[in-house]
Amino acid sequence: MSKNASRTAGRHFLQIPGPTPVPDRILRAMDTPVIDHRGPGFATVAKQSLEGIKTIFKTTNPVIIYTATGTGAWEAALVNTLSAGDKVLMVETGQFATLWKKLAEKLGLKPELIPTDWRIGADPALVEARLREDKGHEIKAVCIVHNETSTGALSPIAEIRKAIDAAKHPALLIVDTISSLASADYRHDEWGVDVTVGGSQKGLMLPPGMSFNAVSDKALKAAATSKLPKSFWSWEDMIAANKTGYFPYTPATNMLHGLNVAIDMLHEEGLDNVFARHDRHAEATRRAVRAWGFEVLVKDAKYFSPTITAVLLPEGQNADKLRAVALDNFDISYGLSFGPFFGRFFRIGHLGDTNDLTIIAALAGAEMGLELAGIPFKKGGVQAAMDYLVSAHQGAATGKAA
Ligand SMILES: *Cc1c(COP(=O)(O)O)cnc(C)c1O
Repeated sequence: MSKNASRTAGRHFLQIPGPTPVPDRILRAMDTPVIDHRGPGFATVAKQSLEGIKTIFKTTNPVIIYTATGTGAWEAALVNTLSAGDKVLMVETGQFATLWKKLAEKLGLKPELIPTDWRIGADPALVEARLREDKGHEIKAVCIVHNETSTGALSPIAEIRKAIDAAKHPALLIVDTISSLASADYRHDEWGVDVTVGGSQKGLMLPPGMSFNAVSDKALKAAATSKLPKSFWSWEDMIAANKTGYFPYTPATNMLHGLNVAIDMLHEEGLDNVFARHDRHAEATRRAVRAWGFEVLVKDAKYFSPTITAVLLPEGQNADKLRAVALDNFDISYGLSFGPFFGRFFRIGHLGDTNDLTIIAALAGAEMGLELAGIPFKKGGVQAAMDYLVSAHQGAATGKAA
């Protein structure tokens, strides 16, 4: 390792759960002259984006494209549908759910948090029980983080919808899919979601800086009476301008070129194949974690995330040391830890443009890093992952499940 050199050979391994590596084909699509966003050529590009993104959210309704990170789209989902003092029900799945709650408070909403130990996802039964108690329908929205990026817990959105319906509650269902969209099965229309929040830099394989609101008819109706102040985030102006293929202000034109290619790539592979690939890499990662003798942070298998695995180290061990050693020696980045287990876990992102060998390299970086960091572990994690991938491919070849 020439640690003093100014160049590192090969590509940096960006194994954090977003931003994710941007494929060369997308980078090339964005490396193009900036065009006039009011000119005739622009509408062709924008219409392709506005129509194409609907196929990723699986909706026939409008999807609003913001020039902002995911946090902006979080805010947009709330300010377009709610009014000051409205109660919203959230589930404390982890760091991102907590940040969204803080954002809601700053906007003048009254979020109520169903607590967890940060090792599970949102439990539909708890949501239903709370909504049944709310006889006066004071709760105006249920906000769920589909894939809690800080812990690797995936929540069952279709079941949350059923829970809201079972309680006969009129609350809107607002879902954050920033680290699951285009990596895990998601169906905005079929699952009856009112607002879905998405971002560009995770499963969509784009750089940061673009985010989305997919909306339902019920959400559009709520927008007509919502009183929270909004200008930049207003759906109304966007939807009106988008109808002709334009935006009320300058959109990120080069990102739209990239988005169109990202959507093409997802459909060329097939969305179901994309989801199966993420499931396979998540399972390979979990097998490596167990072979090392460690726990996956998420303790209930029904909440396992297909895109992120948090690796919990034994008490007294420092996961940040592992991350630093791996970066120093192998030029690989893993995600840091949050919350009650701060310092005890690191996160392996296995989402976006990743393949079997990327995952094996990501796991090898961790296994070698553990040894260099002097953290006691059992060898054989990478081997366990390879064995699983081989069996998965054999199963696919013979048509049998691995
Ligand atoms: C990344 C992320 C966010 C925040 O998005 P930014 O683009 O950083 O603003 C919110 N929610 C989830 C689940 C995320 O993974």
